[in-house]
Amino acid sequence: MSASGSVGQRDAEGKPTVFSGIQPTGIVHVGNYVGAIRNWASMLDDYDCTFCVVDLHAMTVPYDAGDMQSRVFETFAMNVAGGLDPDRCRLFVQSHVPEVTELCWILFSCTAMGDLSRMTQFKEKSEKLKGQINAGLFAYPVLMAADILLYRAGVVPVGDDQTQHLEFAREVARRFNTRFGDTFPEPEPLFSDVPRLMGLDNKAKMSKTLNNYISLLDEPEEIWAKLSTAATDPARIRRGDPGTPEICNIFTMHQAFSPAEDTEWAANGCRTADIGCLDCKRRLADSMAAELAPILEKYRGLISRPDHVRHLMDEGAAACRGIAQKTLEEVRQRIGVR
Ligand code: SF4
Repeated sequence: MSASGSVGQRDAEGKPTVFSGIQPTGIVHVGNYVGAIRNWASMLDDYDCTFCVVDLHAMTVPYDAGDMQSRVFETFAMNVAGGLDPDRCRLFVQSHVPEVTELCWILFSCTAMGDLSRMTQFKEKSEKLKGQINAGLFAYPVLMAADILLYRAGVVPVGDDQTQHLEFAREVARRFNTRFGDTFPEPEPLFSDVPRLMGLDNKAKMSKTLNNYISLLDEPEEIWAKLSTAATDPARIRRGDPGTPEICNIFTMHQAFSPAEDTEWAANGCRTADIGCLDCKRRLADSMAAELAPILEKYRGLISRPDHVRHLMDEGAAACRGIAQKTLEEVRQRIGVR
């Protein structure tokens, strides 16, 4: 984990403030776990952390309203089970702090249409959604900026595909500060060195929609069944063919889940053809199942106590509302609306 540039805003103890959000997909896959939940959990000691389940963002694409509550609930519980201890961070559901929508509206007036229209993710998503594009999808980065600025985050963990959105949030903060006076820190990116997992087909990012994932809810035999048929280095046609671990997603997953000696064993064995792909996958399946088993157990314990999970959501929202209301009070004064 490494921060780029200064870390901006800090809490009373001098820890940099961090904000990030996760989509309420319901089923959380190992790509989400490695890239977001486990990565965020590793920051709890050194940062003042705020994380949320972004249900308002999820409205920008077609969805079944009847499923939303359960998706949010399950995603929230999975974040807790995956290591986001609510006693050590503010974990909440985006819509439970409605102040973000007011700030979003205010920030629209500090947003250039040209900046929004250049967003690569909007172009990609609208290409897929042909005929179902709504204004929310277009304005998505403004809501994201509102999320970050409402909590005055100094740093935001980002992957390669999110740097444009963060740069957009920085630009919005700059525009607001120039027009109304210094109010928001410009959030800095926090690039992580965690492995980025591709889907089991090794063609696209792991995703629920593409059904190319391993879920945190998968039992060991399901993990093995999925890994055993997953794509590998296509050059390894026969067992005696040497391979290139760096282009194989199974090897990337070893880097994410296996002890260093097993990762080295996989790399060497692959290059020399001393191991077969099934040997390599078997060892990965064991490592993955060992890490996920306690998470699954904790998750089951949580969802068997739904009132407790809702209580955690309420506590997270209450902690965030205090910060949000203070920010909005200052913003309203700055913009002349009281
Ligand atoms: Fe991938 Fe392992 Fe097969 Fe090499 S041996 S191609 S790293 S699965």
